[in-house]
Amino acid sequence: MQQNQIEMQVLKKHNFGAGPCILPGSVLQQAANAVVNWNDSGLSILEVSHRSPEFESVVLKTQLLIRELLNVPQSYEVLFLQGGASTQFSMVAMNFLQGRACGAYLDTGYFAQKAIKEAKLFGKVAIVASSEDKDYSYIPDHFETPSDAAFLHCTSNNTIEGTEMFSFPETSAPLICDMSSDIFSRTINVRDFDLIYAGAQKNMGPAGMTLVIAKNEFLNSVKHALPSMSDYRVYRDNQSMFNTPPVFSIYVSMLNLLWLREQGGVTGIQLKNHKKSELLYEEIDRNPLFYGTAMPAHRSKMNITFKMHDPSMEAEFLRFAAGHGVVGIKGYRTVGGFRASLYNALPLSSVEFLVQVMQHFEKEKTMVYSMGTQIAGS
Ligand SMILES: *Cc1c(COP(=O)(O)O)cnc(C)c1O
Repeated sequence: MQQNQIEMQVLKKHNFGAGPCILPGSVLQQAANAVVNWNDSGLSILEVSHRSPEFESVVLKTQLLIRELLNVPQSYEVLFLQGGASTQFSMVAMNFLQGRACGAYLDTGYFAQKAIKEAKLFGKVAIVASSEDKDYSYIPDHFETPSDAAFLHCTSNNTIEGTEMFSFPETSAPLICDMSSDIFSRTINVRDFDLIYAGAQKNMGPAGMTLVIAKNEFLNSVKHALPSMSDYRVYRDNQSMFNTPPVFSIYVSMLNLLWLREQGGVTGIQLKNHKKSELLYEEIDRNPLFYGTAMPAHRSKMNITFKMHDPSMEAEFLRFAAGHGVVGIKGYRTVGGFRASLYNALPLSSVEFLVQVMQHFEKEKTMVYSMGTQIAGS
C-alpha cells in the first residue's frame, strides 16, 4: 500500500532532470523507511555511526556491487569521496600532473573545460582536440596525445551538449575519464582506463558521494605528499573511511545498485536506455517543429538535446509540457533549447509520454497555422 503511494507520487511527474536525477520509486521507499528506522535498529540511517559494523558492511556491499556490475578487475580500487565530480577536476591534476610534463585533455564541452581550467593551476595542459568550433556537437576523433603526457583526460558523456563517446582513445598515456553522467548506463571495459570518476547524482544515487575507480598501479605512481583529503592513496588505505563518508548517499546508492542488478544489470539497462533514446530521437527527427543539436553519430543516449526551428515557441512548449507534468527539460542556460535526460530510472513510459506531448503540441501549432492562413487567404 505504502509502496504504491510512493510509486504514484513519483509517477505524478515525468522527471527528465539532468541531475540530481530521478531514482526508482522502490528505492525512494526503502530510503524513506531507513531514514525513520533503519533495518529495525531503532536508529535512523542518518544517525548511525559510520564506524559501526552495520554501516561498514554497507560500504563493503556497495563496493562489491560496483565491482560486479562494472566487472572491475581486482587490480583496481573502488573509492568513495566527496566534493562531487568538480573536486576531481583539481584532484586528478594534483595527484598526477604536478612535476610532470603535461596533462592532455580532450575538450568536448562545458565540463571538460572546467576540468582543464582546474588542471592549469597545477601544471601544463595540452588540449589534444576540441569540438568548440561546432558548438561541441561532436566528439573529435583524430588527434595525437603528446608522448610525454602524464595522462589523457576525457569526458564519456557531455551532459550539457548531449554528445557521448562510443569509443575511447587508444593511447599510451594513462586514460582518465569523467563518467559522471553515463556510468552504469552501458557496459564499459574498466581495463581501458586508469582512473574513472563520477558524481553519484546522475545515475548512481543522491548527491554527496563521488565514485572513483582507479588502477592501483596508477595510484602508486604518485610519489609526492598531498593534503590527506586530496590524496587517493589515503582513501584507499582507509577503506574510504579516512573521515566521515557521505553515509546516506552511499546507502541509497547501494539500494539503487541493487535495483539495477534486478533490471538485468548494466547490460539489461543498456538495452532499455537504447530503446528510450531511439524513441525520442525518432520523434525529434520526425516532428517538423524540432531538431536535434548533436551530430547523429555522437548523440548521447542519456542527455538528449534539441531545439525548435522557431525559438520564439520554446517558452510556450516548456509551459505546455509542464502543464502535462513533464519537468526538467529546459536546456542548460548557456545552450538554451531543451534537454531530456533519460537516466536509468526513467521509465520508457515517460519517454512515450514526452513524445505524445511533442506530437500534441505539433498538432496545435499546425492547426493554428492553417487557420491563420485560411483567415489571411479569405
Ligand atoms: C554533473 C557533471 C559534473 C559536475 O558534477 P558535480 O558532482 O556537481 O561536481 C561533472 N562532469 C560531468 C560530465 C557532469 O555531468
